[in-house]
Amino acid sequence: MPKATQSNQENKSSLVMAAQGDQNLQDIIQLACYICDSPVAMVTRVDDTELNFIAKVGVSASSVARKDSFCVYAMEDPATVMVVPDARLDHRFSANPMVLAESGYRFYAGSPLISLTGEVIGTICVFDYVPKQLNQKQISSLQALSRQVIAMLELKQMSEQLHTISMTDALTGINNRRAFDQKFEAEFARWQRTGQCFVLALIDIDHFKSFNDSFGHAEGDQALSQVARLFQQHCRNYDFFARYGGEEFVLILPGTDSASAYKTLEKLRLIVANHHWSLRQLTVSIGVASADLFNDKHKLLEAADKMLYQAKALGRNRCCILSTI
Ligand code: GH3
Ligand code: MG
Ligand code: MG
Repeated sequence: MPKATQSNQENKSSLVMAAQGDQNLQDIIQLACYICDSPVAMVTRVDDTELNFIAKVGVSASSVARKDSFCVYAMEDPATVMVVPDARLDHRFSANPMVLAESGYRFYAGSPLISLTGEVIGTICVFDYVPKQLNQKQISSLQALSRQVIAMLELKQMSEQLHTISMTDALTGINNRRAFDQKFEAEFARWQRTGQCFVLALIDIDHFKSFNDSFGHAEGDQALSQVARLFQQHCRNYDFFARYGGEEFVLILPGTDSASAYKTLEKLRLIVANHHWSLRQLTVSIGVASADLFNDKHKLLEAADKMLYQAKALGRNRCCILSTI
């Protein structure tokens, strides 16, 4: 059975990408402030009730209700930048609380954010406390920035989707080996740092080769996915279940001692054994070890693996747990 590889590199790089994404947006609205010579700028995203500021300069609020928003008007015409030279003179905004407030806003300019599918999802906008106008270069620049914001948001979304795909097993839809490697490393580090223990279980479908041989690979795939579903459905929300490779799965049970983990795993084993399998009854063997016996994660994995071999050797369809006695 394969050994775990060390890999938290992807995790780190996705965090770096997220942080960079935020900094890039922040840089863009800072540029909007310079270009429009304005003290306040935001990137907003609209939902049913409000506009959320996903990047901002010169403002402490993090959202505004749609009814009080300038941007919803700007979004009505996606092709143009809406400029409000003096909000006090504009009937749409003269009674707006942000205008009426002491040192309230006077000037606004907002360029709609249009997604690749043509949907208006928010704006990039600037405010000032004094009335003014923008020249054509400033307006074009704000429009260019809105396109840059969209490019950035699309890239971020795509990288999140790619990250999810890279952590998901294509056949079963559950966590894959890469996701397990990261989780296992994090959980083991947490156990060493805080003393919060966890239990590791390796799960292997019994006699699966002969199942494939008898019914074909496609039926084998379906049965494998069904085992994954049964485990995923019946383990606790905070357990971490993954496909380890082939017809093997792995389960991390945090905050559990060996005795209760054993009970849980026996319950899961019986769920598979008692499931109504249409072609042939399937069972699993499970090897279990608790982290508190180890100061090296590879040794813990080896121990669970050894217990799995023991479960196989003792006749399969059983759970073997490493005992300290
Ligand atoms: P044991 O009880 O000792 O585990 O016997 P086994 O037959 O399950 O173990 P063995 O390692 O001999 O065979 C594993 C089988 O699992 C062989 C392989 O074709 C099958 N398998 C692994 N991954 C997949 C998969 O993605 N789809 C299908 N259909 N079969 C798979
Ligand atoms: Mg196997
Ligand atoms: Mg097997």
